[in-house]
Amino acid sequence: MEGVYFLTEDDRKKLLYHWLPESRAADVVEDLRGWNWYRPPLEPPFEGADRVWRLRMGEAAGKGCPTGRDVYVRRILQVEPEVSEQAVLAGFYHEVVHQVVYRAKRGVYTYDTDWGRIMAEMTAAGDEWESWVRRLPIGVRDKAATTGRRLWDFEAERIFVRLPETVSCHPHLSADAMVARALPVVTGQRIDGSYLGLSRHLRVDVGTWAEPMVVNVKFGVPRPEDKLAGAGYALAMEAALEVPVNLGCVVYVSMDDQRIGIEREFYLIDDALRQMFVEARDERMYNLMYRRDPGQPQECPVSCGFINVCHGAATQSGCLHPPDAAVVSQSTVNKPKTVDEIESSEVSATDLRREGRDGKAGAKKKDKAPSSVDSPAETA
Ligand code: SF4
Repeated sequence: MEGVYFLTEDDRKKLLYHWLPESRAADVVEDLRGWNWYRPPLEPPFEGADRVWRLRMGEAAGKGCPTGRDVYVRRILQVEPEVSEQAVLAGFYHEVVHQVVYRAKRGVYTYDTDWGRIMAEMTAAGDEWESWVRRLPIGVRDKAATTGRRLWDFEAERIFVRLPETVSCHPHLSADAMVARALPVVTGQRIDGSYLGLSRHLRVDVGTWAEPMVVNVKFGVPRPEDKLAGAGYALAMEAALEVPVNLGCVVYVSMDDQRIGIEREFYLIDDALRQMFVEARDERMYNLMYRRDPGQPQECPVSCGFINVCHGAATQSGCLHPPDAAVVSQSTVNKPKTVDEIESSEVSATDLRREGRDGKAGAKKKDKAPSSVDSPAETA
Protein backbone atom coordinates (compact mmCIF):
# COMPACT_ATOMS: atom_id res chain seq x y z
CA MET A 1 0.00 0.00 0.00
CA GLU A 2 1.51 3.25 -1.10
CA GLY A 3 2.02 6.10 1.31
CA VAL A 4 4.14 9.24 1.31
CA TYR A 5 7.06 7.36 2.85
CA PHE A 6 6.19 3.84 1.70
CA LEU A 7 7.16 2.32 -1.60
CA THR A 8 4.81 0.68 -4.07
CA GLU A 9 5.72 -2.62 -5.66
CA ASP A 10 6.84 -0.70 -8.77
CA ASP A 11 9.06 1.59 -6.72
CA ARG A 12 10.58 -1.37 -4.97
CA LYS A 13 11.38 -3.07 -8.27
CA LYS A 14 12.97 0.09 -9.67
CA LEU A 15 14.96 0.53 -6.50
CA LEU A 16 16.17 -3.07 -6.33
CA TYR A 17 16.98 -3.62 -9.98
CA HIS A 18 18.08 -0.22 -11.10
CA TRP A 19 18.88 2.34 -8.44
CA LEU A 20 20.63 0.17 -5.87
CA PRO A 21 22.98 -1.41 -8.46
CA GLU A 22 23.66 2.10 -9.80
CA SER A 23 24.40 3.33 -6.30
CA ARG A 24 26.69 0.40 -5.51
CA ALA A 25 28.60 1.00 -8.72
CA ALA A 26 28.78 4.73 -8.08
CA ASP A 27 32.35 5.91 -8.23
CA VAL A 28 32.05 9.29 -6.58
CA VAL A 29 35.24 11.34 -6.69
CA GLU A 30 36.72 11.32 -3.20
CA ASP A 31 37.06 15.12 -3.15
CA LEU A 32 33.29 15.37 -3.57
CA ARG A 33 32.46 13.25 -0.55
CA GLY A 34 31.14 15.38 2.30
CA TRP A 35 33.68 14.02 4.78
CA ASN A 36 36.32 15.98 2.85
CA TRP A 37 34.63 19.22 3.83
CA TYR A 38 37.90 20.72 5.13
CA ARG A 39 39.57 20.99 1.73
CA PRO A 40 38.72 22.24 -1.77
CA PRO A 41 36.34 22.07 -3.47
CA LEU A 42 33.97 21.43 -0.58
CA GLU A 43 35.32 23.82 2.02
CA PRO A 44 33.53 27.15 2.05
CA PRO A 45 35.05 29.35 -0.66
CA PHE A 46 36.59 32.04 1.47
CA GLU A 47 37.80 32.38 5.01
CA GLY A 48 35.02 33.14 7.43
CA ALA A 49 32.25 32.29 4.94
CA ASP A 50 31.06 29.43 7.11
CA ARG A 51 31.02 31.71 10.14
CA VAL A 52 29.44 34.78 8.58
CA TRP A 53 27.13 33.49 5.88
CA ARG A 54 25.69 30.14 6.77
CA LEU A 55 23.16 29.47 4.05
CA ARG A 56 19.87 27.69 4.32
CA MET A 57 19.62 24.71 2.02
CA GLY A 58 16.96 26.40 -0.09
CA GLU A 59 19.22 29.42 -0.51
CA ALA A 60 22.31 27.41 -1.47
CA ALA A 61 20.43 25.20 -3.92
CA GLY A 62 18.43 28.02 -5.49
CA LYS A 63 15.08 26.60 -4.48
CA GLY A 64 13.60 30.06 -4.13
CA CYS A 65 15.28 31.85 -7.02
CA PRO A 66 17.29 30.36 -9.90
CA THR A 67 19.89 33.18 -9.86
CA GLY A 68 20.09 33.43 -6.08
CA ARG A 69 18.69 36.94 -5.98
CA ASP A 70 16.51 35.91 -3.05
CA VAL A 71 19.69 35.50 -0.96
CA TYR A 72 20.90 38.95 -1.96
CA VAL A 73 17.56 40.63 -1.24
CA ARG A 74 17.17 38.94 2.09
CA ARG A 75 20.70 39.09 3.43
CA ILE A 76 22.06 42.29 1.91
CA LEU A 77 18.96 44.42 1.42
CA GLN A 78 17.49 42.81 4.52
CA VAL A 79 13.98 42.53 3.15
CA GLU A 80 11.96 39.58 4.38
CA PRO A 81 9.89 37.57 1.86
CA GLU A 82 6.13 37.46 1.80
CA VAL A 83 5.03 33.96 2.70
CA SER A 84 2.56 32.71 0.10
CA GLU A 85 -0.51 30.67 0.98
CA GLN A 86 1.02 27.83 -1.00
CA ALA A 87 4.12 27.89 1.22
CA VAL A 88 2.05 27.98 4.41
CA LEU A 89 0.02 24.99 3.25
CA ALA A 90 3.11 23.05 2.16
CA GLY A 91 4.65 23.62 5.61
CA PHE A 92 1.45 22.44 7.27
CA TYR A 93 1.23 19.29 5.14
CA HIS A 94 4.86 18.50 5.93
CA GLU A 95 4.05 18.73 9.60
CA VAL A 96 1.05 16.47 9.10
CA VAL A 97 3.05 13.62 7.56
CA HIS A 98 5.80 14.09 10.13
CA GLN A 99 3.30 13.90 13.00
CA VAL A 100 1.58 10.77 11.68
CA VAL A 101 4.88 8.88 11.52
CA TYR A 102 5.98 10.18 14.89
CA ARG A 103 2.69 9.24 16.60
CA ALA A 104 2.76 5.76 15.08
CA LYS A 105 6.30 5.16 16.37
CA ARG A 106 5.38 6.49 19.79
CA GLY A 107 2.35 4.19 19.82
CA VAL A 108 4.51 1.13 19.08
CA TYR A 109 7.08 2.03 21.74
CA THR A 110 4.30 2.57 24.27
CA TYR A 111 1.82 -0.21 23.44
CA ASP A 112 3.91 -2.73 21.47
CA THR A 113 1.34 -4.79 19.48
CA ASP A 114 -1.81 -3.47 21.13
CA TRP A 115 -3.21 -2.25 17.80
CA GLY A 116 -6.34 -0.71 19.25
CA ARG A 117 -4.37 1.58 21.54
CA ILE A 118 -1.87 2.41 18.82
CA MET A 119 -4.73 3.39 16.55
CA ALA A 120 -6.17 5.52 19.36
CA GLU A 121 -2.76 7.15 19.78
CA MET A 122 -2.69 7.98 16.09
CA THR A 123 -6.24 9.27 15.92
CA ALA A 124 -6.01 11.13 19.21
CA ALA A 125 -3.93 13.66 17.33
CA GLY A 126 -7.09 14.52 15.46
CA ASP A 127 -8.45 16.10 18.65
CA GLU A 128 -5.62 18.59 18.48
CA TRP A 129 -6.47 19.31 14.91
CA GLU A 130 -8.50 22.41 15.64
CA SER A 131 -5.73 24.07 17.57
CA TRP A 132 -3.16 23.28 14.87
CA VAL A 133 -5.37 24.77 12.19
CA ARG A 134 -6.16 27.83 14.32
CA ARG A 135 -2.48 28.71 14.34
CA LEU A 136 -2.55 29.20 10.55
CA PRO A 137 -3.54 32.44 8.77
CA ILE A 138 -7.34 32.71 8.42
CA GLY A 139 -7.24 32.58 4.62
CA VAL A 140 -5.83 29.04 4.47
CA ARG A 141 -7.57 27.43 7.43
CA ASP A 142 -10.46 25.84 5.53
CA LYS A 143 -8.22 24.31 2.90
CA ALA A 144 -5.66 23.19 5.47
CA ALA A 145 -8.35 21.59 7.61
CA THR A 146 -9.97 19.56 4.85
CA THR A 147 -6.96 18.65 2.70
CA GLY A 148 -4.64 18.19 5.65
CA ARG A 149 -7.14 15.94 7.35
CA ARG A 150 -7.41 13.76 4.25
CA LEU A 151 -3.63 13.55 4.10
CA TRP A 152 -3.49 12.55 7.77
CA ASP A 153 -6.09 9.81 7.31
CA PHE A 154 -4.43 8.58 4.12
CA GLU A 155 -1.03 8.21 5.75
CA ALA A 156 -2.37 6.85 9.06
CA GLU A 157 -4.38 4.11 7.31
CA ARG A 158 -1.31 2.94 5.44
CA ILE A 159 0.91 2.89 8.48
CA PHE A 160 -1.74 1.06 10.42
CA VAL A 161 -1.81 -1.71 7.81
CA ARG A 162 1.98 -1.99 7.75
CA LEU A 163 2.44 -2.60 11.45
CA PRO A 164 0.43 -5.86 11.84
CA GLU A 165 1.71 -7.00 8.43
CA THR A 166 5.30 -6.66 9.62
CA VAL A 167 4.58 -8.53 12.84
CA SER A 168 2.80 -11.33 10.99
CA CYS A 169 6.06 -12.02 9.09
CA HIS A 170 8.25 -11.71 12.19
CA PRO A 171 6.14 -12.47 15.31
CA HIS A 172 8.99 -12.00 17.79
CA LEU A 173 10.05 -8.53 16.76
CA SER A 174 10.81 -6.10 19.56
CA ALA A 175 9.09 -2.74 19.40
CA ASP A 176 12.33 -1.13 18.27
CA ALA A 177 12.83 -3.66 15.48
CA MET A 178 9.20 -3.32 14.43
CA VAL A 179 9.61 0.44 14.05
CA ALA A 180 12.81 0.00 12.06
CA ARG A 181 11.17 -2.49 9.69
CA ALA A 182 7.71 -1.04 9.27
CA LEU A 183 8.61 2.67 9.39
CA PRO A 184 12.12 2.90 7.93
CA VAL A 185 12.23 6.67 7.81
CA VAL A 186 13.39 9.41 10.15
CA THR A 187 11.40 12.55 9.56
CA GLY A 188 12.79 15.95 10.48
CA GLN A 189 16.33 14.71 11.12
CA ARG A 190 18.60 17.63 12.06
CA ILE A 191 22.01 17.79 10.41
CA ASP A 192 24.79 20.25 11.16
CA GLY A 193 25.60 21.77 7.77
CA SER A 194 28.18 24.23 9.08
CA TYR A 195 31.07 22.10 7.76
CA LEU A 196 29.98 23.20 4.32
CA GLY A 197 29.00 26.76 5.17
CA LEU A 198 25.34 25.80 5.60
CA SER A 199 22.95 26.16 8.50
CA ARG A 200 23.74 24.23 11.65
CA HIS A 201 20.14 23.06 11.74
CA LEU A 202 19.36 21.57 8.34
CA ARG A 203 16.15 19.60 8.49
CA VAL A 204 15.94 16.54 6.29
CA ASP A 205 13.96 13.31 6.05
CA VAL A 206 16.10 10.20 5.78
CA GLY A 207 14.79 6.90 4.48
CA THR A 208 16.68 3.66 4.91
CA TRP A 209 15.38 1.50 2.10
CA ALA A 210 18.44 -0.77 1.81
CA GLU A 211 20.77 2.22 2.28
CA PRO A 212 20.48 5.75 3.66
CA MET A 213 18.68 8.03 1.27
CA VAL A 214 17.74 11.70 1.30
CA VAL A 215 13.96 11.94 1.03
CA ASN A 216 12.44 15.24 -0.02
CA VAL A 217 8.65 15.48 0.17
CA LYS A 218 7.27 18.19 -2.12
CA PHE A 219 3.79 19.59 -2.28
CA GLY A 220 4.50 21.76 -5.33
CA VAL A 221 5.55 21.35 -8.94
CA PRO A 222 8.80 19.47 -9.73
CA ARG A 223 11.86 21.70 -10.12
CA PRO A 224 15.49 20.80 -10.92
CA GLU A 225 16.54 22.50 -7.68
CA ASP A 226 14.84 19.71 -5.71
CA LYS A 227 17.63 17.32 -6.68
CA LEU A 228 20.29 19.95 -6.16
CA ALA A 229 19.07 20.37 -2.59
CA GLY A 230 19.21 16.57 -2.25
CA ALA A 231 22.90 16.69 -3.20
CA GLY A 232 23.43 19.39 -0.57
CA TYR A 233 21.77 17.27 2.10
CA ALA A 234 23.81 14.23 1.07
CA LEU A 235 27.05 16.22 1.36
CA ALA A 236 25.98 17.57 4.75
CA MET A 237 25.15 14.06 5.97
CA GLU A 238 28.47 12.73 4.75
CA ALA A 239 30.26 15.59 6.50
CA ALA A 240 28.39 15.31 9.78
CA LEU A 241 27.77 11.55 10.00
CA GLU A 242 30.61 10.14 7.89
CA VAL A 243 28.31 7.80 5.95
CA PRO A 244 28.18 7.69 2.15
CA VAL A 245 24.88 8.88 0.67
CA ASN A 246 24.49 8.04 -3.00
CA LEU A 247 20.77 8.12 -3.56
CA GLY A 248 18.00 10.64 -3.19
CA CYS A 249 14.28 10.46 -3.66
CA VAL A 250 11.83 13.28 -4.26
CA VAL A 251 8.25 12.42 -3.35
CA TYR A 252 5.81 14.69 -5.17
CA VAL A 253 2.44 14.76 -3.46
CA SER A 254 -0.48 16.32 -5.31
CA MET A 255 -3.86 16.80 -3.72
CA ASP A 256 -7.22 17.97 -4.99
CA ASP A 257 -10.66 17.73 -3.43
CA GLN A 258 -11.02 14.09 -4.36
CA ARG A 259 -7.70 12.33 -4.41
CA ILE A 260 -4.11 12.25 -3.32
CA GLY A 261 -1.47 11.47 -5.93
CA ILE A 262 2.07 10.37 -5.15
CA GLU A 263 4.93 10.25 -7.58
CA ARG A 264 8.37 9.15 -6.50
CA GLU A 265 11.55 10.05 -8.33
CA PHE A 266 14.82 8.39 -7.37
CA TYR A 267 18.11 9.89 -8.47
CA LEU A 268 21.81 9.29 -8.13
CA ILE A 269 23.79 11.87 -6.20
CA ASP A 270 26.73 11.74 -8.58
CA ASP A 271 29.76 13.93 -9.20
CA ALA A 272 27.93 16.28 -11.56
CA LEU A 273 25.11 16.99 -9.11
CA ARG A 274 27.55 17.46 -6.21
CA GLN A 275 29.69 19.82 -8.28
CA MET A 276 26.64 21.83 -9.33
CA PHE A 277 25.60 22.22 -5.74
CA VAL A 278 29.05 23.37 -4.63
CA GLU A 279 29.20 25.92 -7.46
CA ALA A 280 25.75 27.26 -6.61
CA ARG A 281 26.76 27.58 -2.94
CA ASP A 282 30.02 29.35 -3.80
CA GLU A 283 28.30 31.72 -6.20
CA ARG A 284 25.81 32.79 -3.55
CA MET A 285 28.52 33.21 -0.94
CA TYR A 286 30.58 35.39 -3.26
CA ASN A 287 27.51 37.45 -4.06
CA LEU A 288 27.09 38.06 -0.35
CA MET A 289 30.72 38.82 0.23
CA TYR A 290 30.83 41.40 -2.57
CA ARG A 291 27.25 42.54 -2.08
CA ARG A 292 26.68 41.73 -5.70
CA ASP A 293 23.19 41.62 -7.16
CA PRO A 294 23.04 38.50 -9.36
CA GLY A 295 20.06 39.85 -11.32
CA GLN A 296 16.79 38.22 -12.20
CA PRO A 297 16.22 34.94 -14.03
CA GLN A 298 14.34 34.73 -17.33
CA GLU A 299 11.33 33.62 -15.43
CA CYS A 300 10.53 33.93 -11.74
CA PRO A 301 8.69 31.11 -9.93
CA VAL A 302 5.27 32.50 -9.04
CA SER A 303 5.67 31.15 -5.52
CA CYS A 304 8.68 33.38 -4.81
CA GLY A 305 8.11 35.59 -1.81
CA PHE A 306 10.06 38.47 -3.35
CA ILE A 307 7.90 38.97 -6.45
CA ASN A 308 6.63 42.30 -5.14
CA VAL A 309 10.15 43.39 -4.26
CA CYS A 310 11.78 42.46 -7.57
CA HIS A 311 8.88 43.18 -9.88
CA GLY A 312 7.01 45.88 -8.00
CA ALA A 313 8.81 48.63 -9.91
CA ALA A 314 8.82 46.56 -13.09
CA THR A 315 5.07 46.37 -13.25
CA GLN A 316 4.87 50.15 -13.13
CA SER A 317 7.74 50.87 -15.50
CA GLY A 318 7.15 47.96 -17.84
CA CYS A 319 10.78 46.94 -17.35
CA LEU A 320 11.44 43.37 -16.35
CA HIS A 321 14.94 44.00 -15.05
CA PRO A 322 14.78 47.31 -13.21
CA PRO A 323 17.74 48.76 -11.32
CA ASP A 324 15.72 48.08 -8.19
CA ALA A 325 15.41 51.63 -7.02
CA ALA A 326 12.27 50.61 -5.20
CA VAL A 327 14.06 47.78 -3.48
CA VAL A 328 17.03 49.85 -2.46
CA SER A 329 14.79 52.47 -0.94
CA GLN A 330 13.24 49.79 1.25
CA SER A 331 16.60 48.85 2.65
CA THR A 332 17.50 51.02 5.57
CA VAL A 333 20.32 48.94 6.93
CA ASN A 334 22.93 47.76 4.43
CA LYS A 335 23.10 49.98 1.41
CA PRO A 336 24.57 47.85 -1.39
CA LYS A 337 27.17 49.02 -3.84
CA THR A 338 26.13 49.44 -7.45
CA VAL A 339 27.17 46.72 -9.85
CA ASP A 340 29.74 49.11 -11.44
CA GLU A 341 31.34 49.85 -8.10
CA ILE A 342 31.60 46.19 -7.28
CA GLU A 343 32.89 45.07 -10.65
CA SER A 344 35.64 47.68 -10.69
CA SER A 345 37.03 46.36 -7.44
CA GLU A 346 36.63 42.63 -7.68
CA VAL A 347 37.67 39.53 -9.52
CA SER A 348 34.82 37.29 -10.66
CA ALA A 349 33.65 34.50 -8.40
CA THR A 350 34.66 31.90 -10.94
CA ASP A 351 38.19 33.30 -11.19
CA LEU A 352 38.56 33.34 -7.44
CA ARG A 353 37.25 29.83 -7.10
CA ARG A 354 39.58 28.61 -9.80
CA GLU A 355 42.51 30.37 -8.20
CA GLY A 356 41.75 28.81 -4.84
CA ARG A 357 41.33 25.34 -6.25
CA ASP A 358 44.34 25.48 -8.53
CA GLY A 359 46.38 26.22 -5.43
CA LYS A 360 47.95 29.36 -6.91
CA ALA A 361 50.20 31.10 -4.43
CA GLY A 362 50.97 27.83 -2.69
CA ALA A 363 48.28 26.41 -0.47
CA LYS A 364 44.70 27.52 -1.14
CA LYS A 365 44.65 31.21 -0.52
CA LYS A 366 41.32 32.19 0.87
CA ASP A 367 39.64 35.54 0.68
CA LYS A 368 38.55 36.94 3.95
CA ALA A 369 34.96 37.65 4.77
CA PRO A 370 34.42 41.33 5.51
CA SER A 371 34.40 41.84 9.22
CA SER A 372 31.73 44.51 9.11
CA VAL A 373 28.89 42.36 7.81
CA ASP A 374 26.13 41.50 10.15
CA SER A 375 25.83 37.84 10.88
CA PRO A 376 22.49 36.67 9.50
CA ALA A 377 19.98 34.73 11.50
CA GLU A 378 20.83 31.08 11.14
CA THR A 379 18.02 28.70 10.44
CA ALA A 380 17.37 25.75 8.23
S1 SF4 B 1 11.19 37.56 -7.68
FE1 SF4 B 1 12.43 36.57 -9.23
S2 SF4 B 1 14.41 37.59 -9.14
FE2 SF4 B 1 13.33 38.13 -7.28
S3 SF4 B 1 14.06 36.63 -5.81
FE3 SF4 B 1 12.17 35.84 -6.68
S4 SF4 B 1 12.77 34.53 -8.38
FE4 SF4 B 1 14.52 35.81 -7.83
